[in-house]
Amino acid sequence: MELINLNKKYPQVAYLGFLFNFHKECSNFICWRCSKNSSMKCLCFLKTSLNINNPIFISVNNDYVHQGNENFISATKIKNAIVEKAKLTSNSLCIMYLYIIDFDYCSHK
Ligand SMILES: [Zn+2]
Repeated sequence: MELINLNKKYPQVAYLGFLFNFHKECSNFICWRCSKNSSMKCLCFLKTSLNINNPIFISVNNDYVHQGNENFISATKIKNAIVEKAKLTSNSLCIMYLYIIDFDYCSHK
């Protein structure tokens, strides 16, 4: 399990090629929902301990409707890094990269 995109309000969790977004905080754990929740109607979720900055893996349901994809995780990390860079610069090359990556991502959904 790896915490990524730490610059966001809520980080994301990468696990076995799946990406999870913060969903809600329950009494004993944090619930993270699969990033394919809306696009693929995937209901898989992951539970961690309550510390958002250093969550400890508790469990994951295995009712996947799709395969994990490490490349998708890598692409998400790179995309996030470029988004951050683009915020700090008016570098048009940077914005062009962003456009290309986004296009690539969208065409594989
Ligand atoms: Zn899923």
